[in-house]
Amino acid sequence: MVKCSHNKCGESAVINVAKPYCKDHFIKYFESKVAGTIKKHGLISKKDRIIVACSGGKDSTTVLYLLNKWFGNVTALAIDEGIPGYRNITLEDLRSFCSRNSIPLKVLSYKETFGFSLHEALRKVTVLPCNICGTLRRYLLNSGARGFTKIATGHNLDDEAQSIMMNFMKGNLELAARLGLVTGVVKDEKFVPRIKPLYFCLEKEVAAYAFLQNFSIRFNECPHSRISFRAAVRDFINELEQQQAGTKQNIINNFLKILPLLKR
Ligand code: SF4
Repeated sequence: MVKCSHNKCGESAVINVAKPYCKDHFIKYFESKVAGTIKKHGLISKKDRIIVACSGGKDSTTVLYLLNKWFGNVTALAIDEGIPGYRNITLEDLRSFCSRNSIPLKVLSYKETFGFSLHEALRKVTVLPCNICGTLRRYLLNSGARGFTKIATGHNLDDEAQSIMMNFMKGNLELAARLGLVTGVVKDEKFVPRIKPLYFCLEKEVAAYAFLQNFSIRFNECPHSRISFRAAVRDFINELEQQQAGTKQNIINNFLKILPLLKR
């Protein structure tokens, strides 16, 4: 039986992500990593009013839970695109999570705002779902966040490594400049800055944390994500990571070195 790697802890390890850890020490390791990211990069100040962009999945629920625990007074913002068999389930999980933790939840839908759901739009036009969905989603997140000073998102290290590679592969240097721990190149009153507290956490670490904390969420995926460019890039990077451990971390580390130059 593998033992927890923390100092003299004699407990059996329940997880082996960065190192083998027992449940308590993995939770401590993960929380101090996220708290350290927030502190070191000045993501949140005492004056901030935080809204968390929530999908009801493991990443954004983890951010919502931690920011509510550490800062209190956070609001959850969810977008209902209208994706049958997916969004109705994640919203159900999010509603019960928010109600158990007394967190206010604001839900904006494509149907109410634009007059059509994503499902209805896709029956009329032939387009890659994520292409229109991403644009509408960003618009609604930004308008739903007015009055707040920061939008916290659940983007993890895997997501960011994918976004970096996607932008490089598509030749979108300008878009790559908008990545990083705080997004947005130009400061604009109408644009609420986005912060990514899970920036240095691997997806499997977040999944392990959400599982060990028993968030009662169903781990499901949007049916359209399989045919997206992101899915192809994700599989490619995962394969490289298998062959060369540390690939994802290296993408992030090197990107952060060139980001100030890209922003300029
Ligand atoms: Fe929308 Fe694509 Fe995300 Fe599904 S995977 S919610 S279609 S952006």
